[in-house]
Amino acid sequence: MTVRPCSFARVARLEDLVERDRDHECEGFGVHHVCVKVVAVANLPTRFGDFRIVAFWNNRDGKEHVALVHGDVIGADRVATRLHSECLTGDALGSLRCDCRDQLETALQRLGAMERGVLLYLRQEGRGIGLLNKVRAYALQEQGLDTVDANLALGFRDDERDYAVAAHMLASLGVGSVALMTNNPTKIRQLQEHGIVVAQRLPHVIPPNAHNRKYLHTKALRSGHFMPVDAPELPEQDEPLSSIKLGGA
Ligand SMILES: [Zn+2]
Ligand SMILES: [Zn+2]
Repeated sequence: MTVRPCSFARVARLEDLVERDRDHECEGFGVHHVCVKVVAVANLPTRFGDFRIVAFWNNRDGKEHVALVHGDVIGADRVATRLHSECLTGDALGSLRCDCRDQLETALQRLGAMERGVLLYLRQEGRGIGLLNKVRAYALQEQGLDTVDANLALGFRDDERDYAVAAHMLASLGVGSVALMTNNPTKIRQLQEHGIVVAQRLPHVIPPNAHNRKYLHTKALRSGHFMPVDAPELPEQDEPLSSIKLGGA
């Protein structure tokens, strides 16, 4: 486990983070030395419950990440936490090539029903390769490449996502330790490497439906995720449903 590059003054309320971070600049987290700071906090009532939205600026690429916070999380331990990577096609447009929207909604429903919890909405579209390249990868998949080979053909690793920014965001929020909602050991390991205490793992559970049952089964067998073959857990966002035959075709 590495040591956090800087310590963060504890504040009483989320809105106090804006003033605390006004001049924040640290050496950054991870190989890319990402530093984020809180720039705005507001209420965000949602269909999944009442949240506060915490907006972060980052020094690396100007991407605007947000945390959705439910309940009191400052200084709290075992805070249920979900890391969600942006997926425009799934989250907003309802694409069936992936299950990101189901994962997002399930996470927000669960967090909204708990005493406290955090969802980090991370702007790393398409497993980190960006929207345009994700669409390019879809096109290659339609020519017969699988999802891994499609990414490699475009010059990317299978998964370009980096959770250093997520670690910094959790540290900035002052979360004591997290109960991470994930089936992906990579997320746990990366957060720990950046000094976040992962006290517990919460399986990300959702009842399978007729559309994704076969996919879930296949991924449980093929992936390294924590997913018992018969358990109704979602796979991680990182795997486009390229193996599913849409429309029964
Ligand atoms: Zn920083
Ligand atoms: Zn998606």
